[in-house]
Amino acid sequence: MPEAWSPSSWRSLPKHQMAEWEDKVLADKVLGKLGKLPPLVQPKECERLKALMAEAGRGERFIVQGGDCAERFLDCEGERLETQLKLILQMGMIVEHISGKPTLKICRIAGQYGKPRSKPTETVEGFGEIMSFKGDNINGFDPKNRKWDPERLLLGYWHSAAALNFLRGYCTSGEHLPLQTVGVADLKSSEHYESYSEDARAIFGKAIVPETVEFFTSHEAMQLDLEEALTRPVGTKFYNLSAHLVWIGDRTRQLDCAHIEYFRGITNPIGVKVGPSMKNDELKELVQALNPNKEEGRLMLITRYGAGKAEAMLPGHIQAVKESGIPVTWQCDAVHGNGIVAKSNKLKTRLVNDIMTEILEVMAIHKKCGSILGGIHLEVSGCDVTEVVGGSAGLTEEMLTKNYETYCDPRMNYSQSIEVAFRVANEMPS
Ligand code: PEP
Ligand code: MN
Repeated sequence: MPEAWSPSSWRSLPKHQMAEWEDKVLADKVLGKLGKLPPLVQPKECERLKALMAEAGRGERFIVQGGDCAERFLDCEGERLETQLKLILQMGMIVEHISGKPTLKICRIAGQYGKPRSKPTETVEGFGEIMSFKGDNINGFDPKNRKWDPERLLLGYWHSAAALNFLRGYCTSGEHLPLQTVGVADLKSSEHYESYSEDARAIFGKAIVPETVEFFTSHEAMQLDLEEALTRPVGTKFYNLSAHLVWIGDRTRQLDCAHIEYFRGITNPIGVKVGPSMKNDELKELVQALNPNKEEGRLMLITRYGAGKAEAMLPGHIQAVKESGIPVTWQCDAVHGNGIVAKSNKLKTRLVNDIMTEILEVMAIHKKCGSILGGIHLEVSGCDVTEVVGGSAGLTEEMLTKNYETYCDPRMNYSQSIEVAFRVANEMPS
């Protein structure tokens, strides 16, 4: 690790999952422009999020974080953004109403335009082997458009700014009545339908308090030249002011590599994905590198093992963190370890049952180990998409083709997400 940190000290280390630019002159011009554009969020907002994440780490609050796997530029439309924000806010309201615990709502929104990929290339019929889609920030989903193009980074900034401007106005306009209308009509076949309906009526009857509509933005900070350009000095510190929270993906968390170096120096609250390949000793070193000052609310560990796998991994990880003496906020990403391919149509999907199973397993393990589960992390859409199998609305594998629109990972739709929120809330320790 370089001795002195700077927003660019990551550059001398091995980098993973980052696009490289063929036209260096153009890339420098774009990054120079990005470096001058106004920040998208304020340092004070990042500090507020940190304080709320600290509360979640102590079990005083519960985090609901969610959104698209990858946002698409074409989805940057008022109605879509509203639908997405409403879903996350409603999931929070459900948890709050049932558990009695305040929530913290974090959206994967206004900047989640880049994707790590398991393989740099893929074979597409009619095109042969081409670069994999790495998110709208880097290249196009259309196989004809897979060249890495630095000018897309600027497009990403404009889309983030437009989305954020709309969402902020939505949250402060004062007209939030539709927010409270939690739709349970699709859950009629659930044995708990009566209680869901009752809860939905009670939530509708509640007055909205400003805290209820407070939300934060987040994305995976993968393309570090972009993140560096949006990293700004504030007094003696540096903040990444492109989002309130940024996280390190499971594929870029190597201890001696560029992402850890970049993240250790920013003052934002940050997250790290913790998958099944994480060793206990490695995790201990990682939390020490990322939170050496033992600041509460600074570091969220986002476990993503897969249903049935947490028991073999999580107790060791909890023990390693305990031994390190570093405070963390534990979160359960119950989607990224649960990807499968549908037999009949070969679509990437997940099962609502696997998602629920992982959450319940992780809850039980934290309880047994005396640690605290501070929240959940999910890929969801407020629209009526058909990407995940299961839920009381009875979405089957054959129905996936009906409205399968994701470019990356499959998302639970509105009714599946609402149902998961009800089920999680009803299982939360009081
Ligand atoms: C994601 O959150 O979209 C993602 C790629 O997750 P992970 O890094 O855990 O695989
Ligand atoms: Mn994903």
